[in-house]
This record gives sequence, structure tokens and C-alpha cells, in this order.
Amino acid sequence: MDTVECVVIGAGVVGLATARALALAGREVIVLEAEDHIGSGVSSRNSEVIHAGIYYPQGSLKARLCVRGRDALYAYCAERHLPHARCGKLIVATDPAQLPDLERLREAGLANGVDDLAWLSADQAQALEPALACVAALHSPSTGIVDSHALMLSLQGEAEAAGAMIAFLTPVAAMVVRPDGVAITTGQDNAPSLSARLVVNCAGLNAPDLATATQGLSPIDRATPHYAKGSYFTLAGRSPFSRLIYPTPEPGGLGVHLTLDMGGQAKFGPDVEWVSGPDYDVDPRRAQRFYGAVRRYWPGLPDDALVPGYAGVRPKISGPGQPAADFRIHPVGTARSGMIHLYGIESPGLTASLAIANHVVDLAKGLADA
Ligand SMILES: Cc1cc2nc3c(=O)[nH]c(=O)nc-3n(C[C@H](O)[C@H](O)[C@H](O)COP(=O)(O)OP(=O)(O)OC[C@H]3O[C@@H](n4cnc5c(N)ncnc54)[C@H](O)[C@@H]3O)c2cc1C
Repeated sequence: MDTVECVVIGAGVVGLATARALALAGREVIVLEAEDHIGSGVSSRNSEVIHAGIYYPQGSLKARLCVRGRDALYAYCAERHLPHARCGKLIVATDPAQLPDLERLREAGLANGVDDLAWLSADQAQALEPALACVAALHSPSTGIVDSHALMLSLQGEAEAAGAMIAFLTPVAAMVVRPDGVAITTGQDNAPSLSARLVVNCAGLNAPDLATATQGLSPIDRATPHYAKGSYFTLAGRSPFSRLIYPTPEPGGLGVHLTLDMGGQAKFGPDVEWVSGPDYDVDPRRAQRFYGAVRRYWPGLPDDALVPGYAGVRPKISGPGQPAADFRIHPVGTARSGMIHLYGIESPGLTASLAIANHVVDLAKGLADA
């Protein structure tokens, strides 16, 4: 059985960023990807927003890696001329009862180092976005959008240029933690075909199941998966907004917001629907709830303007009614036979991807010699 230094499981944005960072740090890296192309999972089914870092509890991994990752991502995209835009966003209170929520968000942002938030009156917000209805808004100038596919292609190219190899159509089926490496069984094989000194589990929605399929991991090293589907509806016609528009957050998500892609196309979503497993159908009947939610901040939304778009599924490790979990980036084992599991890499995972990758490299250095 061949032994390699590092195996990264999953070629989504986080796996690719991690493979690149490990390869640039001089490590031998193989990426094992179940599908035949990069970015087939959560990384292709999201809002493509570069988050400023407002929403997350102070000191959490989400807060720290989002702010660090945001700065790194803007610099990365600018240096490589990748499509992105620092378009800014407005978080809006549409009812005076939401003003304390807006104030809490401003304080949370400040605590996380997001020091450019500006409180706008209704008139000031409408001067920026005339179609908007609100009683007040927070303006976040460091929120933006990125072409996630261009980003992933760039990460893939740089990972490969630094020596990483990607094996497509290679699903990891099972692993065994042994003293001298983690033995990996792929595809339909009955026996391990590869051993790695370090396995980084970046399998997104499947990361908890892969840990369950690993012999030699104790229950505290595993995570329970929960899935929160988010459906999007696209706007037929031109967007009246040039910034992203977010309501105050709702349990499980950030509220039905308006985002723009690099072509200026507007979409609304994602909503929150707890599901028992990944499912990407968009039920057109959900549009009714969208009309109501969107018209609170855009009363001019025409009838029949919402077209079913796509859906994504958030890889959660906390369920409905539980407090929102932080990213759980969990090292286990030794430098000769170690694993780092990435659990619950939901939003802001795209924004944070470069910072998550550096964090993984640091954790890998910290695995004890055995
Ligand atoms: C609805 C929604 C909206 C979001 N919006 C934003 C946003 O605006 N901004 C932001 O920063 N973040 C956002 N996110 C979060 C962001 O999309 C994710 O954090 C990020 O894409 C996770 O990337 P990943 O590489 O961890 O996972 P994935 O992209 O899912 O990659 C995992 C890869 O592992 C592969 N894989 C799975 N099992 C195996 C196996 N057994 N063997 C080999 N390969 C395997 C899969 O095929 C896949 O390619 C959003 C998420 C959702 C769901």
C-alpha cells in the first residue's frame, strides 16, 4: 500500500484552499474527490457573498476566520484579477421593533473587528437605494461578492502548480486509524489502497459520515450532521438595487436576502427548511413566503417576478432549536497518523476558505510526534 504525506478529502472551496496551503508549505498532497469535477457540493450552491464578519459570536472561529478570510480573499482576488466586487450591503430594520436587533448586530460587528459599519436613517438608506423601504439600516461597505467558480479554478491551478494531485471519481468509503498512518479505502474496494500521515476531512455535508466510517476514532471526535436546506428564487428582470439587501437574521439563517451575482442578476434566499438529507429541488410553492418576506423591504416587487432558482444545503452540526454551532475544526492523532475533521463548515465558509486553510496548516504542525 502506498503511503502519502497528506490526503485532503473533497475538492470544494475549502478542500482546494487547504490542498493549496499544504502544498505551498512543502507537503506532499493528494486530493480525493468523489465526483468528476471540483466544486460539486456546497461550494456551488451558495450566495457567493464575501461576508464582512458581523453575525458571529466574538472570539468564535466563524468570527475570526471570516474577518481574516475576507481580507485574504479580497487580496487574493485582486492580485489574480478574479471576478469579485466590494459592492457593500444594507441590513435593514423594517419595523421599529427590529431596531434593537440592528443595534446588536452593530455591536457584534464591532466586537469582531468590523469597524466600518455605518448606521443609516431611512432617508439616508433610501438615498443609496431608492426602491428600499426600511426604518433604519446598517451599511456594511466591506461586504462583497465573488465568482466562486473562478476562485475554485484558481485554487486548483495553484495547488497543482505547487505539486498537489487531484484524483477525481475517488470516493473515500472507509478509513482506519493505525499507529503508522490512516489507511484509506476508496470506491468499491474491500481493502485500503492508500495510507496517509495526515487526512484532512473536507467532505462538506459528508464530513460527519466519513468520521463515522473511520475505525479508531472515539465518539467525541465525531459530529452529528444536520441539514438545513435553503431555496433561492431569481428575479425576472433588472434588479432595482446595486447593493446586497439583508433583513435582520432569522433562526438557522440570515433571512431571505437579496444578493447579486457578478452579472448583476438578483436572487432572493436562501430560506431555512430542515431536511433529513441533501435534496436540491426548489418547490415553487415556497415563493409565496418569499413575496411576503421581500415586500417588507421592497414593496415594489412585482407579482410573478420570482422564478424558482436553485437550492443549497447547509452542513450543520446543530439542529433546529439548538444554539448555532461554531465551525468545528478538529485535529486528532499524531504527526505520523493524524486527522483534521472540518465539521459544520456552513456560511461563512466560502469567505473564510483561505483562513480555514491556514488554520489547518497550523493545526497540522501542532500534531504531536509519536
Ligand atoms: C445556501 C447556502 C448559502 C451560503 N452562502 C454563503 C455565502 O454567501 N458566503 C459564504 O462565505 N459562505 C456561504 N455558504 C457556505 C459555503 O458555501 C460553504 O461553507 C463552503 O462552500 C463549504 O465548502 P467545502 O469545501 O467545505 O464543502 P463542499 O463544497 O461541499 O465540498 C465537499 C467536497 O467533498 C466531496 N466529497 C464528499 N464526500 C466525499 C467522499 N466520501 N470522498 C471523496 N469526496 C467526497 C464532495 O463531492 C465535494 O466536492 C453558504 C452555504 C449554503 C448551503
